[in-house]
Amino acid sequence: MSRQSDNYSSESSTALPIVIRGLTKRYGQLYALDFVDLDVKSGEFLTLLGPSGSGKTTLLMAIAGFSRPDAGSIRFGETEMILTPPHRRDVGMVFQSYALFPHMSVSENIAFPLKLRRVGAKERAERVDAALSTVQLSDFGERRVDQLSGGQRQRVALARAFVFRPRILLMDEPLSALDKKLREQMQIELKQLHRQLGVTTVYVTHDQREALTMSDRIAVINFGKLAQIDTPQAIYNQPANSFVADFIGESTMLPLTHAGSDQLFFEDYLIATDFPTNSNDEWSLVVRPERLFAVKEAITDPNETILFNGVVREFVFQGDTAFALASISDKYDLSIRFGTDSSEFQNVMRPGDKVSLGLHRRDVIIIPRTT
Ligand code: ADP
Ligand code: MG
Repeated sequence: MSRQSDNYSSESSTALPIVIRGLTKRYGQLYALDFVDLDVKSGEFLTLLGPSGSGKTTLLMAIAGFSRPDAGSIRFGETEMILTPPHRRDVGMVFQSYALFPHMSVSENIAFPLKLRRVGAKERAERVDAALSTVQLSDFGERRVDQLSGGQRQRVALARAFVFRPRILLMDEPLSALDKKLREQMQIELKQLHRQLGVTTVYVTHDQREALTMSDRIAVINFGKLAQIDTPQAIYNQPANSFVADFIGESTMLPLTHAGSDQLFFEDYLIATDFPTNSNDEWSLVVRPERLFAVKEAITDPNETILFNGVVREFVFQGDTAFALASISDKYDLSIRFGTDSSEFQNVMRPGDKVSLGLHRRDVIIIPRTT
């Protein structure tokens, strides 16, 4: 690369896809990233979701260029970036800890990446003003950052990350230091900001609800491997395996046994027909608590609904929803969740009551069982 084309591309504004192949990072015996293939589409909001220690930060740092992988390829569009230093990757980054300069004003913090890119004073001032307005801090430019609240600091960190119009924006658990209410408000604001900027965004969180709220697609990561990548709806409704089913949303998993050539049973309940399996395949039924409903047996068509007979063990009122636990056999309980306004059963579910719980066949989720 020549000195000329080495310049920070401060004028670039078109979003870029990220293409990751075989990315591997080891710490001693531990594979923090284990041959990861990942495509981030141009302009999309992709979330890396996984438990603590699953490799999310390692992957983000590799994209940003702060961590050197042992093997693999990271392309931004057509360009291989694996040997490109962080400051030449044209990537905006927001950290959990904000990493603002405490001795500088809000405006000076936001202007910093523009100065680095030698943007002239006049344009710098205009862009800082525009960024301040985007994050709703127009009156705070002269404040020192240590005079701001957590939410305001996070907005400054954001403005500093996008003010130079990067083609890729990376965020590592940027809201985790905020309290619940502010966090939920900022989730919506970040989503709106993304829509406005159209920048390819990779967002890291361990909070499944946050991932479902914000993302175009979610990449679920576990032990340095991608467990599934898809839209929030598909991840929730068609989890690929028990890790994803368990990590995202609430669920009960029931072991299935195979009968005949293509039938699956849970104990005596026929769960699926037309499910050809190899005799050594093992499967589980995933039941989402909100997909269960209490029913009167007489009006239920067994072709459309599986009916579990149970006994209520627990009933808990939680405000917007209520939660119950019903035992359906010696070994297994089902969790049920329902709205508190409409359910005719909220007053009749008492420990010891018999209940019939319906599950529409269209809500049946079957996944490979892992032992
Ligand atoms: P996450 O961000 O998902 O919580 P990380 O990417 O930070 O996970 O870490 C993935 C794994 O790599 C963890 O097991 C972590 O302990 C390990 N790890 C991360 N950084 C280092 C390091 N500098 N030295 C040794 N092990 C590390
Ligand atoms: Mg992390």
